[in-house]
Amino acid sequence: MSETIPSLFMRIINREIPAEILYEDELCIVINDIAPQAPVHMLVIPKQEIARLVDAAHSDQSILGHLLLVAGEVARQFGVDDAFRLVLNNGADAGQTVFHLHLHILAGVKGSKEFSEANIGSW
Ligand code: 5GP
Repeated sequence: MSETIPSLFMRIINREIPAEILYEDELCIVINDIAPQAPVHMLVIPKQEIARLVDAAHSDQSILGHLLLVAGEVARQFGVDDAFRLVLNNGADAGQTVFHLHLHILAGVKGSKEFSEANIGSW
């Protein structure tokens, strides 16, 4: 009998693996990335396990929209709403390493030199 192995992020959602949970609602969580690529690097993760964006169905429209709205809310909450970048890696060749769809929120720190549109391209 085949068994579905919960993704790493599902194990974080289920509190089997520790993570810094910054936000949670009934549909998603937001955590700090364990290996930040920018001064602010958060991950928005749906509680529903969808491996890649291309695996999402039309019935997932509301959860996908919800992830974007939450990204905006937490960006505001963490003071980076004036300049942040959203990244979604789809597929191993695009850099996806955890096959549970997620958004990366990448930003500098407000007031710092890094917090400028000129620098956002390097994250
Ligand atoms: P991907 O490469 O799939 O787009 O992004 C996966 C992200 O998950 C990477 O940025 C990686 O640093 C992060 N990550 C991997 N394992 C863990 C973990 O155990 N905890 C947290 N908080 N982030 C993780």
